[in-house]
Amino acid sequence: MYLDDILAHNKQFVGSNQYEPYKTSNLPNQKSVILTCMDTRLIELLPAALNIKNGDVKMVKNAGGMITSPYDSVVRSIFIAINALQAEEVLIIGHKNCGMQQLDPSIVMEKMRERNIEDQHFQAVQDEGVDINEWLAGFETVEQSVANSVEILTGHPLMPASIPIHGLVIDPETGELTLVTRGYEQ
Ligand SMILES: [Zn+2]
Repeated sequence: MYLDDILAHNKQFVGSNQYEPYKTSNLPNQKSVILTCMDTRLIELLPAALNIKNGDVKMVKNAGGMITSPYDSVVRSIFIAINALQAEEVLIIGHKNCGMQQLDPSIVMEKMRERNIEDQHFQAVQDEGVDINEWLAGFETVEQSVANSVEILTGHPLMPASIPIHGLVIDPETGELTLVTRGYEQ
């Protein structure tokens, strides 16, 4: 089983002190916080392409690297990074060929139905005041999505004006960065 493989490896990892090269503090050496996508291709490529090592940044990830509302958990994490963990710049990094690009919520809901989620359960979500189509929606273009997330943060009442917020797009094949918003000039 997958979990047992992880636990077996972990025992060996800790037992042979393989954690030594990763020792660092919980404060980001580069004093920044990065929001990006949970895409598998970015796990090691993004830090390598940006010259980020263990301990350098606070990293927040979700599907699409998106801020969906001014008070979602991503925004909370960014404010914690700034106010409790010494982050002084924000980088929002979307990527090309993202699974959230033009994601159709109805396809996700169809998959849920195949997993025996019934209409009454979707209704229960609606009853909570959640528009499930909006909640599951992706974005049109990644540049637009990054710009939108930057805009939500820039216009946030709790966002200090002194913190630059940059928007970028990364190529998940080559690691090449394209600038969407340069936060120093906002
Ligand atoms: Zn993605």
